[in-house]
Amino acid sequence: MYFDQTASTLPLPEILDLYLSLSKSTYANPAAIHRLGYEAEQVIKQARKDIAEVLRCRPENLLFTSCATESINTALRGVIAAHPHGGRDIITWDIEHKATLKTCAYLAQKGYNVRYLATTGDLLPDLKELRTALSRETALISISLVNNELGSHPDIAAIVKLRDSLAPQAIIHIDAVQGWTKLPFYPLQTGVDLASFSGHKIYAPKGIGLLYIRKGLRIDPLILGGGQQNGLRSGTENPVLCACLARAAQIQTKSMATNFAYVQDLHNFLVDGLNRAGLGCCPNLPAKYSPYILNVSFPGVNPETLAHALADKEIYVATHSACSSSDNRSHVLDALPIDEARKTSALRISLAPDHEKSDLTALIDALREIVPKLRVKSQDSTLQR
Ligand code: PLP
Repeated sequence: MYFDQTASTLPLPEILDLYLSLSKSTYANPAAIHRLGYEAEQVIKQARKDIAEVLRCRPENLLFTSCATESINTALRGVIAAHPHGGRDIITWDIEHKATLKTCAYLAQKGYNVRYLATTGDLLPDLKELRTALSRETALISISLVNNELGSHPDIAAIVKLRDSLAPQAIIHIDAVQGWTKLPFYPLQTGVDLASFSGHKIYAPKGIGLLYIRKGLRIDPLILGGGQQNGLRSGTENPVLCACLARAAQIQTKSMATNFAYVQDLHNFLVDGLNRAGLGCCPNLPAKYSPYILNVSFPGVNPETLAHALADKEIYVATHSACSSSDNRSHVLDALPIDEARKTSALRISLAPDHEKSDLTALIDALREIVPKLRVKSQDSTLQR
């Protein structure tokens, strides 16, 4: 039972078939001047067009990358590098993904003032604080459409509105990784400037990401070389992965509304079941959230021990972001206004359209068996100390 789709997904069978067939037919270099090269180039063109349709933007506004981490780096570093005489302030939130936080830390080293804003008691980014932070000096604002540990879903339209009235020069970047094809998000319509996406979170293979760049916005490339993709990202493009990304985006977008309703029902069922199970657990539920992610604390229980005990039963959950799993603590939970016991005992359970309620019942039953035992163990070891 796999409850870790937030970390990565199993590519859809249709996508794997496409991957195999295109790998056999479309192996030429898309920049080659012969017919096979032309055909490979056409596959990329079609993929870009298909994704533009899904995102309701123009194909020229889309840049293929290797993953969202690369998209985020290109967006933040690229836009700052292209506007050396712009403002010096960068605004983000301390619960953002490490791809954003580390890139901002890099920019801070280059002399930019990075402001890490807080999360409120309802587990949403503090927009009042944003209002006071915005100024003529604001160069960039970066925030996630859906937080990858909490599932919190901030009001992006309100952020755009604040930017428009208080710092119209500021560029807005949205890390859309955990919201793409799950919640309606159209960067052009929303009025943001940059948006990052990842293939392996939407049932496409790993190795492909995407960056939306608003028309007319200058960014400097991160990768130099042969000048592919209008010089914005050199390196031979992979037509197979581009096509897989496009197909996955089409499939998932087509069923977005039905999937959402189904997953919301699963989410309600799980929260209700956990609350009724007498586990002494505490769902960390933001006021506005994506139902695809449920973060829940089991005070008094070590979350890693719990995740391992579940894995022994072939139930796979996460403690926190897989991208920062070398750290013992979650920087996201650490930044929340919640007590220490909740911060250090949380599991992230991902929900997906292929889950059944019976899977959730099995998860709750397993937790009922494991959690009390782990609590007794942890109390014993505290007494011994
Ligand atoms: N941003 C968010 C919100 C994520 O959840 C992830 C991956 O977990 C990333 C960025 C990085 O994505 P990728 O693995 O494609 O680099």
